[in-house]
Amino acid sequence: MSRSKIVVIGSSNTDMVVRTSHFPEKGETVLGGEFMMNPGGKGANQAVAAARMGGEVVFVCKIGKDVFGSQSAELFEKEGIDVSYVLVDEENHSGVALITVDANAENTIVVASGANAHLFPKDISSVESIFSPEGFVLLQLEIPVETVRYIAAAAKSKGGKVILNPAPACELPDEVFSGLYMLTPNEKEASMISGVNVQDLDSAKKAAEIIYKKGVEHVIVTMGAKGALVFDGLEYVFIEAQKVVAVDTTAAGDVFNGALVVALNEGKSIIEAAEFANKASAIAVTRLGAQASAPYRGEIMEEVS
Ligand code: ATP
Repeated sequence: MSRSKIVVIGSSNTDMVVRTSHFPEKGETVLGGEFMMNPGGKGANQAVAAARMGGEVVFVCKIGKDVFGSQSAELFEKEGIDVSYVLVDEENHSGVALITVDANAENTIVVASGANAHLFPKDISSVESIFSPEGFVLLQLEIPVETVRYIAAAAKSKGGKVILNPAPACELPDEVFSGLYMLTPNEKEASMISGVNVQDLDSAKKAAEIIYKKGVEHVIVTMGAKGALVFDGLEYVFIEAQKVVAVDTTAAGDVFNGALVVALNEGKSIIEAAEFANKASAIAVTRLGAQASAPYRGEIMEEVS
């Protein structure tokens, strides 16, 4: 079977992390400790996770004309991602996140979205030819909502299947949901979209039903260490999380979505794909970092075949 390339469209950031004994007070300067620069952004994290799972991925994003952008593009290429549609913004800087982590492992984060916030529908119209019938398009919400809406409509008009990971949580107009192949909120996002306070399986089911009625074909509510709930409008299937010792849950959702789209693109059923994603993200939480924690296909192969 010839499979379409998976199209991931979203953000690329560089996370700049400094460790500090304590957070500075207003006006205070603190001499911090170790500095790390890590690739991030939900779009990039999901593209990398999908590539490591064996997917043929095209990543569409906007970077600035600076060292952060060019380093990110180099990394995508090293991961085997098609970078033909990594667009360069002449006016805005690449997305960066300034993160401080104190002695208690608490953090503060300031994101400067830069070029990510300037990925507009007009940019996408030049890459629309990559949407194919039955092809999967994976989106998140770190680019403008108007662009997300435009992509969803354009991909759908070509018969494509759009998966929206509605993260980070934000208010969305109802038109965004109509015609989506799948929505993959975590508990917080599902609560915000449905108005139901999602805390357990019963409330997740209620939320999934409300979200389904907004015009989404399939809903998967990811529920952290509990697992994930799949709803297709007819039945609910709960997939229990793998029992692992979690050391860092950063990007668990990104790895889940990246693995999910690869399995769906291979023709696996939605339940099989969610089980595969559940296994991939369980490995990710046993490791430190965002993109760095994404496993490779071979690491879960024997568990799924
Ligand atoms: P993040 O924002 O940290 O990227 P998220 O909030 O979007 O994550 P979660 O619902 O926390 O997403 O996690 C996604 C999936 O990862 C879960 O559905 C589950 O399959 C897996 N997972 C998360 N935490 C754990 C854990 N502690 N043990 C095993 N699996 C986990």
